[in-house]
Amino acid sequence: MGEYHVASSVEDALEKLSNCEGRAEIVAGGQTMMLLIRQGLVDPDLLVDISKITEIRGIEDVGEYIEIGAATTYAEIKKNPLIEKEFGFYTMATSEISGPQVRNQGTIGGGLVYGDPALDTPPVLLTLDAELEIQNAQGSRRILLEDFFVDYYETAIEEGEILTKILIPKLPKYSGGKYRAMTPRQGDYAIAGVCVRLTLDENGICIVARLGLTNGGDTPMRSRGAEKVLEGTKIEEETIENAVEILGKNLDLIGDIQTPKSYKEIVFKRIARQTIKDVKLELMSDA
Ligand SMILES: Cc1cc2nc3c(=O)[nH]c(=O)nc-3n(C[C@H](O)[C@H](O)[C@H](O)COP(=O)(O)OP(=O)(O)OC[C@H]3O[C@@H](n4cnc5c(N)ncnc54)[C@H](O)[C@@H]3O)c2cc1C
Repeated sequence: MGEYHVASSVEDALEKLSNCEGRAEIVAGGQTMMLLIRQGLVDPDLLVDISKITEIRGIEDVGEYIEIGAATTYAEIKKNPLIEKEFGFYTMATSEISGPQVRNQGTIGGGLVYGDPALDTPPVLLTLDAELEIQNAQGSRRILLEDFFVDYYETAIEEGEILTKILIPKLPKYSGGKYRAMTPRQGDYAIAGVCVRLTLDENGICIVARLGLTNGGDTPMRSRGAEKVLEGTKIEEETIENAVEILGKNLDLIGDIQTPKSYKEIVFKRIARQTIKDVKLELMSDA
């Protein structure tokens, strides 16, 4: 490995990245990047550490949105009262991430840019209609998270760009959600995870349904088909069954020796069915 530079600001990091003549990489918590380097899969001439940049760390209420700096760790998100108050199920999902070591180091931005479909929290952020702010040497741009995941471990971030902020719109009233995952052992990556976020109107009709999936396909993804089935209904038993069937069809699973595709599909459907029911019940009892 070549030079290691601890950036003091986004401007400093961008300047270093654009002046590098060889291969430059960004590192935040290093939970993925250091493994890639150790395994010889990445061999950068320059590693720019963005974890000490205070302007991209922290959580702030900015009116319509809650803004999370990209270098904020999972542990900081998990214990933040603002996140807990606005999106309790996002707090719950951060608890699913491995153990304290990974949560203390791993950052929200690193998890998103890596584009791993097996992570727990990106699908939760999809159900929250999150947006991203990305900076490069020319300025900044905004992108919807749902447009950010391009393919297997491929995102819309370009070389020389830094993800700086995650913006989560506050939820309207009668909204709620849950994330559930099935892991072989505590602390392991999930075999399947489903996040359900619903918003009802005052008559109990679902006006927004979002279903985010961990390990459902090549990218963190939504089941748009299932969402459409739920929207405009009172989410009765039959509607839930129809939504779950469509979700099964939306999956793009890869089987392995331990967990064949057919088994994973059953797990996804079971988790989705139960989670939709639970979110609806919770919202109806709160109303
Ligand atoms: C032992 C172990 C167990 C794990 N278990 C789980 C689990 O159960 N559930 C789960 O969800 N995750 C799990 N993870 C994965 C963890 O969530 C990710 O490794 C972590 O989110 C990556 O964040 P990081 O800050 O460490 O990223 P880094 O390793 O620093 O970077 C990851 C990638 O993103 C790029 N990058 C980072 N930040 C930015 C930025 N702001 N702008 C542009 N590019 C950037 C880097 O260049 C690199 O390509 C586990 C990881 C480990 C090591």
